Amino acid sequence: MAQGLRLVLFGPPGAGKGTQAQLLRDRLKITHISSGDLFRHHLGQGTPLGLRAKEYMNKGELVPDEITIDIILDKVMSVADGDGFILDGFPRNPHQAEALEKALAGKSWILNKVVHIEVSEPELLRRLGGRYVCRGCQSPHSIGEGEDAATKKCDQCGGELYQRDDDGPEAVKKRIQVYNDETMPVLGFYRKRGVLADISGDNTVDEVNKQVMAALGA
Ligand SMILES: [Zn+2]
Repeated sequence: MAQGLRLVLFGPPGAGKGTQAQLLRDRLKITHISSGDLFRHHLGQGTPLGLRAKEYMNKGELVPDEITIDIILDKVMSVADGDGFILDGFPRNPHQAEALEKALAGKSWILNKVVHIEVSEPELLRRLGGRYVCRGCQSPHSIGEGEDAATKKCDQCGGELYQRDDDGPEAVKKRIQVYNDETMPVLGFYRKRGVLADISGDNTVDEVNKQVMAALGA
């Protein structure tokens, strides 16, 4: 049933896209294409695309859309005809969505579903604001309500927990703003194509997964 399912998992930072994508990969036996992982791979391996991206990052500039698109589509196009994939973290703006559609059309492929995990802004702020990292082993931790990051220690190595600048309150608000301004318009693009399924993400991982599976008819 999962044969050839081609999906996009869509939602704000903090919606749990990565976790849901891994669950879908395991249950549907499709390739998980995470834009974050792909970037790290290209940068780490120093591939031609990675080196191009790095030039901009070194200057403190945003990586141009065309490089991001090349990195993702290179992977998408490598998926075998009968196999499916799930995209997580791409497309992030309507231009990227158009580039994806064009590339898929070149193979006579279509997206079967775009699953939109919706999470309220207060919940996003709570989740993203609770992200901490161990100074010792770098493992991620979440600090819940009523917990104190200053006294809680790493459960792996006992190290001190701290918050990266990226996860500080100002950075978190900025990321949500960028999502609202640049990424949300992609929803209109897919709504017109009739492939959008809206799921409430203000739930447990299991509950969200059930809803996603139901939306896929799986
Ligand atoms: Zn640690």
